[in-house]
Amino acid sequence: MVLRKKENNDMVPLKDIVDIAPSVAKGVIKEEQREGIFEHNYKCLKCGLEFKLYSWLEFRHDATNVFCPECGQRGEMLHHQKTINTRKTFDLCAGDEIFNLMKF
Ligand SMILES: [Zn+2]
Repeated sequence: MVLRKKENNDMVPLKDIVDIAPSVAKGVIKEEQREGIFEHNYKCLKCGLEFKLYSWLEFRHDATNVFCPECGQRGEMLHHQKTINTRKTFDLCAGDEIFNLMKF
């Protein structure tokens, strides 16, 4: 599903995105809870898989509460956290929103 910018490039409020893409919005942290964008880098010490996880909450994820998507183990991981921004509001036009950081 593609979320489109408004034609005049105005910011689209998060509540409108929830209306546009309810399946994407399921489980989304409410915008008033947002602390910014945080990139969590993991390396599984069992299988060696390296992966990234993005969050709006700084301390929601750590090495103890994330499962390895390859082997399924939890707890034995290297974890490095990087702050992308501390913007409290979603900005569809910003280049550093999570959907722009993930290159598919
Ligand atoms: Zn693993």
